[in-house]
Amino acid sequence: MALKALDIYKLLPKKNCKECGDPTCLTFAMKLAGGKADVELCPYLDENAKAVLGATTRPPIKLVKLGVGERSFAVGEEFVLYRHDKTFYHPPGLMFAVSDTMSENEISAVTTRVRDETLTRVGADLKFNGTAIVNTSGTVDAYAKAVAAVEKTAGLPEVLVSENPDALAAALVLCGSYRPLIHAATPKNYRAMCVLAKQHGCRLVVKAPTLEALAQLTKDCVAEGVANLVMDLAPATLGDFVSRSTAARQLAITRAMPDLGYPLYLDATTFEDEDAAIALGIVKYASVIVTSPLKSASAKAALTLRQNIYTDPQKPIQMNPGLYRVGTPGKDAPVLMTVNFSLTYFTLQGYLESSRVPCFMLIVDTEGLSVLTSVAAGKLNETIVRDAIKKFGVETEVSHRKLIIPGYASPLSGRIEEATGWKVMVGPRDAAEIGEYLTQEWKP
Ligand code: SF4
Repeated sequence: MALKALDIYKLLPKKNCKECGDPTCLTFAMKLAGGKADVELCPYLDENAKAVLGATTRPPIKLVKLGVGERSFAVGEEFVLYRHDKTFYHPPGLMFAVSDTMSENEISAVTTRVRDETLTRVGADLKFNGTAIVNTSGTVDAYAKAVAAVEKTAGLPEVLVSENPDALAAALVLCGSYRPLIHAATPKNYRAMCVLAKQHGCRLVVKAPTLEALAQLTKDCVAEGVANLVMDLAPATLGDFVSRSTAARQLAITRAMPDLGYPLYLDATTFEDEDAAIALGIVKYASVIVTSPLKSASAKAALTLRQNIYTDPQKPIQMNPGLYRVGTPGKDAPVLMTVNFSLTYFTLQGYLESSRVPCFMLIVDTEGLSVLTSVAAGKLNETIVRDAIKKFGVETEVSHRKLIIPGYASPLSGRIEEATGWKVMVGPRDAAEIGEYLTQEWKP
């Protein structure tokens, strides 16, 4: 059972020395209670206290980092079963599979796609994460060649999938410093796999068909000195995956079986309905999902679903405040101010584009709240608008001094005029009417 901050505080040395990086022991205790700090950071805790605190305060699902450099990503460190209870923190890595029976050109084409393909959605660039290189041939040479072809194209995170320790050893010589994820240690071969993982500082997938066997296997690998683990449930069906992934998450977050507290791996290519497998993997706790090189529609669906599931349900999706252009606006183009709630931005932008009136959108920071809510909460006010005009250089972009504000912000019109010196025009309440409004009302 998790300890409360005050209980944890009682066990701390209370030197307030800041060596843990926190200003006081109490703030460190609060972080520990939230699973956001590691007991190892306090050098004054004795082993007994570390054991007690460590067992109850470390995140129930271990954080595991995959790859190195710009495109590396972290998975795990999750706390809840249901997204609405808090949020899910680390989106799963989506890895395109390539096989060592493919030609070098084919492997390179898939890797290039992973490297370059981007879907821009609600202001975020969504990408696939890396490649899973499968030793289908079973031979050492073909596998080394396939890994070399991936390495030549991009320095992306990789999963090395092979049952042959010799093939993995040959591949790791080529890419070991990029810390690939090795798939997979089983009850039979885990010692050899742990030797490889330790030698190259790699993360290791453990694979077993039951939760009990997996828990034993993670314990065995930790005893061998490999603690950065990911678990493959080896599901035979999608139903099997959902029931076992849910049970594993529940047993880990309640700390009933802490040996199951590792991120999950899912090979979606083994299922007839791969799209369904990817969707279930994203929703039901998979942290590394291997897919075939997906067709465009499936790729967009996977990236979109992942973005939606891994946004914080308590925080509205926000646009970055700034001055945005619609078309190629000139010095006499209208300036429309609105809030940085992404839905407001994209709705208005769509109507402005179809109006074919080139204009500027001045997006101000209301912490993602809508117009009506931000006016009521005082998050949209004359100071924010004045500061945004200055900060984003609106005065140098246009020769006039007229600002169109949303209809629901009309109570602020007088105060905005006073604070900015700009003439305020109150626009429509409904964004759908903006085209007609601009045609009739806009005269620079
Ligand atoms: Fe307290 Fe330990 Fe942090 Fe020092 S290092 S402030 S004793 S928790």
